[in-house]
Amino acid sequence: MTPDVRDRAERPPRIDFSNGAAGAIPESAWDRTLRLIGKADEIALACHVTPDGDALGSMLAVAFVLRSMGKRVVASFGDRHFAVPRLLRFLPGQEMLVPPAEYPAAPELLITFDTSTFERLGLLSDNAARAREVVVVDHHPSNAGFGTLGLIDATAAATAVLAEELIYRLGGRLDRDIATCLYAGLVTDTGSFRHSSTTPAVHEMASRLVATGLRTDEIARELWDRSPFAYLKVLAAALDRATLEDGLVWTYITRVDRAAYGLPYAELEGIIDIVRRTDEAEVAVVLKEDDQGSWQVSTRSKGTVDVGAACAALGGGGHHNAAGYTSHDSVEDTMTAFRRQLRKA
Ligand code: 5GP
Ligand code: MN
Repeated sequence: MTPDVRDRAERPPRIDFSNGAAGAIPESAWDRTLRLIGKADEIALACHVTPDGDALGSMLAVAFVLRSMGKRVVASFGDRHFAVPRLLRFLPGQEMLVPPAEYPAAPELLITFDTSTFERLGLLSDNAARAREVVVVDHHPSNAGFGTLGLIDATAAATAVLAEELIYRLGGRLDRDIATCLYAGLVTDTGSFRHSSTTPAVHEMASRLVATGLRTDEIARELWDRSPFAYLKVLAAALDRATLEDGLVWTYITRVDRAAYGLPYAELEGIIDIVRRTDEAEVAVVLKEDDQGSWQVSTRSKGTVDVGAACAALGGGGHHNAAGYTSHDSVEDTMTAFRRQLRKA
């Protein structure tokens, strides 16, 4: 494989999945995807609600390429309060986003990114239900297998890995904007190349992306190294009430905590990464109350416990070591139910 990006534009490489994923997606699925894209004039793209870097980055990267092929492209996510999370506002291509209300009601072809269940499409799940074809590009082991065609590889470190392959197969080439979107997905889902999913192939992909001239330092600062002052105060409250019990560390953040400092819900994403540092705990949980009063439960494992299975049993999903779900119960009842699932996991 050549490290020269210009070369690659003429000769799209076969992606080398050294993590053993080669062939995990059958050639027939890629072929059918290319045929569906080839004959569609308008292509609707969607990612999961409250998108992270992998969901939004993968979607926008593919949107750029489809647009350059002359397709009409609409991209969105189904949040009731439609807004790109502050952390991701640096991503290029946001002019291609439309709010759910402006999304085609019954798209001819809809492609989803990083979305493991129909429900994770939020408001767009109705549009997906009416779409003629729904191609699902995802890497969640818990993927429920919805849609009419799956490009699903649970061994891929990020959906961005699959998005890159789709781009090459479409004959697209990486420019700095596309690479920035893909890189946001890759660094988000590998925890800045720290998680066990960080294979040689991941670093090779990063190399291809960085070779376009993107600014790794600026992306890192946008994603992890800045926050409003209010974040410190809310974090302090969350850490103050952190509880350690039998290898489980957990805390919660109410909407009242946030309202006291005017902190938006999306700013809470990084708190789990601080809580999960705890040496004495194998599993970390952060309950985050959203603006509607539901609890979004973020869970992390250090490896021996499958939190993905526990969350899937509670109506959510995710990965072995990082998963989540929504609870409408009280903090106490939510934790009681989660502990019960942990004992089974
Ligand atoms: P986070 O804690 O960062 O929000 O989510 C961790 C992982 O769990 C991500 O891979 C995310 O896609 C998945 N996840 C979080 N919440 C849900 C949920 O409600 N349903 C499903 N299916 N997956 C979730
Ligand atoms: Mn992902």
